[in-house]
Amino acid sequence: MAKARVIYWFRTDLRLHDSPALKAALDLEPEVLWPIFTWDPHYVYRARGGLNRWQFLLDCQNDLSASITKLNPNSKLFLLREAPQTVFPKIFKAWGVTHLVFETDTDRYPRERDAVVEAAAKKAGVKVITRSGRTLWDSDGIVAKNNGKPTMSITQLQNAGKKIGPVERPIPAPTSLPDPGEMPLDFEHDQPSGKPDVNSGQRAKEDTEYQSIAGPKGDFGIERMEELGFPSATTPHKGGETRALKMLDDIIKNKDYTATFEKPKTSPAQFEPQSTTLLSPFLHFGALSVREFYWRVQDVVDNYGKGASQPPVSLTGQLLFRDMYFAAQAAIGPEFTQTLGNGHCKFIPWHLPSKVNPHTGISTGEYHIDSPEAEKWFQRWKIGMTGFPWIDALMRQLRQEGWIHHLGRHSVACFLTRGGCYIDWERGAEVFEEFLLDHEPACNAGNWQWLSCTAFFTQYFRMYSPISFPQKWDKNGDFVRRWVPELKDLPAKYIYEPWKAPLVDQKKAGVRVTGDGLSSSSLPSSSSSGDKGNTYPKPIFDFNERREICMAAMKTAYQANLLGNDERVADGSWADLFPEEGEHAGLRDLDFESDDGEKADEGDESDDANPGEKRTAKSQQASSKKQKK
Ligand SMILES: Cc1cc2nc3c(=O)[nH]c(=O)nc-3n(C[C@H](O)[C@H](O)[C@H](O)COP(=O)(O)OP(=O)(O)OC[C@H]3O[C@@H](n4cnc5c(N)ncnc54)[C@H](O)[C@@H]3O)c2cc1C
Repeated sequence: MAKARVIYWFRTDLRLHDSPALKAALDLEPEVLWPIFTWDPHYVYRARGGLNRWQFLLDCQNDLSASITKLNPNSKLFLLREAPQTVFPKIFKAWGVTHLVFETDTDRYPRERDAVVEAAAKKAGVKVITRSGRTLWDSDGIVAKNNGKPTMSITQLQNAGKKIGPVERPIPAPTSLPDPGEMPLDFEHDQPSGKPDVNSGQRAKEDTEYQSIAGPKGDFGIERMEELGFPSATTPHKGGETRALKMLDDIIKNKDYTATFEKPKTSPAQFEPQSTTLLSPFLHFGALSVREFYWRVQDVVDNYGKGASQPPVSLTGQLLFRDMYFAAQAAIGPEFTQTLGNGHCKFIPWHLPSKVNPHTGISTGEYHIDSPEAEKWFQRWKIGMTGFPWIDALMRQLRQEGWIHHLGRHSVACFLTRGGCYIDWERGAEVFEEFLLDHEPACNAGNWQWLSCTAFFTQYFRMYSPISFPQKWDKNGDFVRRWVPELKDLPAKYIYEPWKAPLVDQKKAGVRVTGDGLSSSSLPSSSSSGDKGNTYPKPIFDFNERREICMAAMKTAYQANLLGNDERVADGSWADLFPEEGEHAGLRDLDFESDDGEKADEGDESDDANPGEKRTAKSQQASSKKQKK
């Protein structure tokens, strides 16, 4: 029988260790194996992506390519600069391919893309082999074991996982790789349209990446930032499988840290080094296998004995959250990343709601400006100029480095939505999509829903204060001094409330608290703010006033109890259920709880689509800790 001629299609699995799909390709004992990556215009032009994540991707690709070459000097990661949907049918024929192998991906676009490529393979007589490897359990398998429903709590995920069986042990990296075959390019090169380009604002010059299918040197080399028209990245975090495995090794060496990790006890204000693993971007690009991470930790926990932490707060618990969101998305589909059409997401009449394509029902990425004031708040939040130093420090860290701690993400997400601005969580998710190194559609949308109390979590009376919450972690405000250098010499007692500092203290600290943060004179000198400016904006609003307004509005929305797939949401008649004054209506004398993050991993555990509804009422009555401020 003729030997297999295999394309291994790398996507978000940029590693050699623990790759079930790569193993399946090698089990074919191929005559030739082409490790390829297709430079997909969808991500280049149609999905938001900041410089830092692009650089991280290139790091992962360069590292993988070098590792492949170590195993076979004739091979490397071959980069084809064309859309997979158009290039595969041509290379199937031109290269005499018999098999296409890749890791499954349950995100919205990859599902659509892969269906097109699989159909083309079928037409060309090419056999397609896929394996799950991006999550602890196959997300579609989890959904099947959860009666076809999305996993809306960790317990549901764990129960479904139990039905599948224990997380499989990782498999070792291959020790050799076959030669690649010939790669003739005697076919037309389809150049994609660069319009619309959602990332045009980031390009310093025109991109040239699609000028030739094999790149400027004709050697299928990895892209460079210049080819993409991008200036250099600003993040200090570097990608690649080699680095990921080394970082994991270092974590595992610290048995106490690994076994007793409790997420709510890790500080969002700690930097150099951060308090959590920072492995999320590696997991996103598949440079680190999640099963490798899981079992390396679990083995330490099993040998640790008494005192080891447990899910959901433990390290393996964190990985369960990741699987929970993946399986929720796998069940719900494209609507998971938005409210409209999503039967598991509460409808709240937020400011700046998304515009929707009437034909597909999917958000276009644009939004309605229903309130110029809210738009101003959003712009100030985005650039880290809200006048609340804790929020601004986090947003500047996000922009500069592409990563912030989970509780930092809690703070800024709560602040933008139900705990301050009352702005649509989809706006915040889009900003995270642009700037996060680890942006993962399922985890991002899921966590934004959690924080905005639209799904997964319903205790909207628990809010993060941008003043008292950071004080718990960082009394002196070192984190703020690092990221908001305008305030670096301010006395600690004003560091989270600089507007309260008397003029004489402001003068001494070399800063004036003035302006709205949007006029050019008050913008930070660089988005990361290396230099010290001499002004810092006044706060966008009175936080105490806003949280009462928001909580009253949330209460009204919870009473209306509409889900995203309710007809009244689509046809606009939801408005009949809400007082005309919008978020200002409702009860104003409600109690709230200050969220100190201690229960950050406690979601709602219930089987219905609106878990926590009953629990919310119950906990509201029972809460003994309530404070009135
Ligand atoms: C509003 C918001 C948006 C978020 N967007 C993303 C995103 O786009 N991509 C993303 O990977 N995480 C996202 N998270 C989850 C979480 O903040 C990050 O995974 C975590 O901070 C990454 O840092 P780490 O690797 O040090 O995490 P660790 O605490 O070391 O955890 C280990 C791993 O567990 C996973 N994990 C931990 N917490 C979560 C969680 N809550 N949800 C899903 N996975 C988790 C990550 O893969 C992480 O690398 C978001 C959280 C919030 C509140």
